[in-house]
Amino acid sequence: MRYISTRGGVQPVGFVEAVMMGLGTDGGLLVPERLPAVGAEQLCAWASLPFQALALEVLTPFVGDAIPRDDLAQLVQRSYASFSHQEVTPLRRVPDAAGGRSYLELFHGPTAAFKDVALQLLGNLFEYLLERDGGRLNILGATSGDTGSAAIYGVRGKPRIDIFILHPKGRVSPVQERQMTTVLDANVHNIAVRGTFDDCQYLVKALFRDLDFKRRHQLGAVNSINWARILAQTVYYFYAWGRLTGGDTARRLSFAVPTGNFGDVFAGYLARRMGLPIDRLMIATNQNDILTRFVETGVYAKAQVIHTLSPAMDIQVASNFERYLYYLLDEDPSAVRGLLADLERTGRLAVDAGRLGQVRSDFGAAAVSDAETLAQIRDTFETCGYILCPHTAVGAYASRHTPDTIVLATAHPAKFNAAVREAIGREAPPPAPLQDLMDKPVRCAELEASSKALRAHLEQQLARPAG
Ligand SMILES: *Cc1c(COP(=O)(O)O)cnc(C)c1O
Repeated sequence: MRYISTRGGVQPVGFVEAVMMGLGTDGGLLVPERLPAVGAEQLCAWASLPFQALALEVLTPFVGDAIPRDDLAQLVQRSYASFSHQEVTPLRRVPDAAGGRSYLELFHGPTAAFKDVALQLLGNLFEYLLERDGGRLNILGATSGDTGSAAIYGVRGKPRIDIFILHPKGRVSPVQERQMTTVLDANVHNIAVRGTFDDCQYLVKALFRDLDFKRRHQLGAVNSINWARILAQTVYYFYAWGRLTGGDTARRLSFAVPTGNFGDVFAGYLARRMGLPIDRLMIATNQNDILTRFVETGVYAKAQVIHTLSPAMDIQVASNFERYLYYLLDEDPSAVRGLLADLERTGRLAVDAGRLGQVRSDFGAAAVSDAETLAQIRDTFETCGYILCPHTAVGAYASRHTPDTIVLATAHPAKFNAAVREAIGREAPPPAPLQDLMDKPVRCAELEASSKALRAHLEQQLARPAG
């Protein structure tokens, strides 16, 4: 399997290069030259597989011969051994008077949010490739909350890897901040930026665009632009489908996906393009509704970032959106470049009526306010005794009129107990990874939102003798 850029400026590369490159050298996102098709027979056979075995099957055509199958199987086993639930991503049926709803619980990993599903695998993949092929990697990433800790837990203590994670100072929840800054391994570098998440993401992208700096410091990405992350996330769509349908390919399922960077919902889109019988993919956003407005109007227009109760989705420029544009525009890189140039120049891009029709058949979308989020947490707790995290509540509210929609439960509610308390007057009991966080020592640097400051900080940290 070879990978090309959504902007057309990267010579086709293999799986290993695509994973190590992260962002395409032309500024675009890497996508497979051709998507593998999964037939009915395969779907049926996969339906009864445990998560790890299924992951191996889903990953194999994308990895090709870049990693021997036995090694890949071991990587997958190791990655999901860190999950506390034996099903890894269990489907939880929560009964209520109206018949109940299904939640796909993605938060049983070491940091209690869904990003562990991808980042436990990516960390082990990096380690395996660096050990096998030699070399070092310095990971640079921005987080609006959950990515950072999940990335840190993916690579903490791994030789040959350093990780630098930027977060917007004071704009991630105290628990999220502590989950990152309490990791004291020498290869972990936390940076609090005085600015927004978009500032952080912009700084990271600017450094990656400096190809000389990137090469000199062996920079790599773990943000949701990394192809391996998307891939790992497609697995649980297949898994949920298998669990619910038993392999009956006549049954199509719908998913509601709390969305920020368009990573998780893009993984669902990918699974559907590969042949998984998915009916409706519901994009559920908070008041940062750029994606919802796009589905409604065909215009993708940046607005100010609003601080909400679901901070992991306080994003205006959704970095994986470009991958969808690529497919929407019939895999034509020059058309992608044209629209992105509009976006760069004017802060907005628009698709024509024909394309908009396609967008609307690909996705439903709804924007959910903080008040609605709280009401959903309260309602679900009162009717079923099940506590939703605010992101999951956004998904549940967005799909409230179609209760057979599976809601992706993206974080454990105890990660967002301020919102939970506001909604139901009590807190969710913390799972093991979230206990005692406030009592642990922390380490974190603080920087202004300037690429000059970031560059200087990285150079200083990387100049230290290897530990
Ligand atoms: C990251 C995150 C999201 C949004 O996922 P994207 O892939 O950025 O769309 C939703 N909920 C939680 C809890 C998250 O951490």
